[in-house]
Amino acid sequence: MTNSFWRQIGLAILVIALLLTPPALPQQAVFAGIAGTPATQKLIALTFDDGPRRSTTTRLLDGLAERGVHATFFLVGSRLPYQEDVVLRMEREGHQLGIHTYDHVLLTGLKQADFDAQVETSRSKLTAIVGHDSFLLRPPFGKWDEGVRIRAGCPIVLWSIDPEDWKDQDVERIVAQGVTQARDGGILLLHDIFDSSVDAALRIVDILHAQGYYFCTIEQLFAARGITLQPGEVYWNAYP
Ligand SMILES: [Zn+2]
Repeated sequence: MTNSFWRQIGLAILVIALLLTPPALPQQAVFAGIAGTPATQKLIALTFDDGPRRSTTTRLLDGLAERGVHATFFLVGSRLPYQEDVVLRMEREGHQLGIHTYDHVLLTGLKQADFDAQVETSRSKLTAIVGHDSFLLRPPFGKWDEGVRIRAGCPIVLWSIDPEDWKDQDVERIVAQGVTQARDGGILLLHDIFDSSVDAALRIVDILHAQGYYFCTIEQLFAARGITLQPGEVYWNAYP
């Protein structure tokens, strides 16, 4: 056997390896950090309610990590036991966390004790897991009143882009509506407890990446627009 024979074999192996490597997913590259964000950069905050749910949430986290995307998760307190590792992974991988009550109940019209059982209990359980108490609040069904505002103890974040993914769990429809409603400064609502929503979320990300959008956390979205989130204030979007 000659050296050139082995060189050709080596070359052939290299070519086959290159052909077998899947194409890399479009990664986020434009965003230069909060301070360096050009005003022209289109931003969207991807938000997920009602989790964690180990199977679907883990698959979503895998997909977001592959794409370099950070999202915001509004968690239900009663779902935290035995899923602490999923929450820790969110925290470790740069996602932002929020409270979505303990039992997914309406927060309007509650007495202080009942409000605390929903929000403060969730806050302390989340704090026990991640070691800080800096969380947003998203009231279930987007319903809030003055009592919720006064007692929240943190910014209240709703949404502006809602493909109603819980309705029929139809991936094609959710993707189409999410992309159609997409707008710079928007907050997109999805639920990480459905497989269809995970599929739709990742497809929406890929389509909007190709349109030049950058996905960031709620905190990053508002910081990029020069807005400091205030406790007890309600936010729907950061449209220019
Ligand atoms: Zn919800």
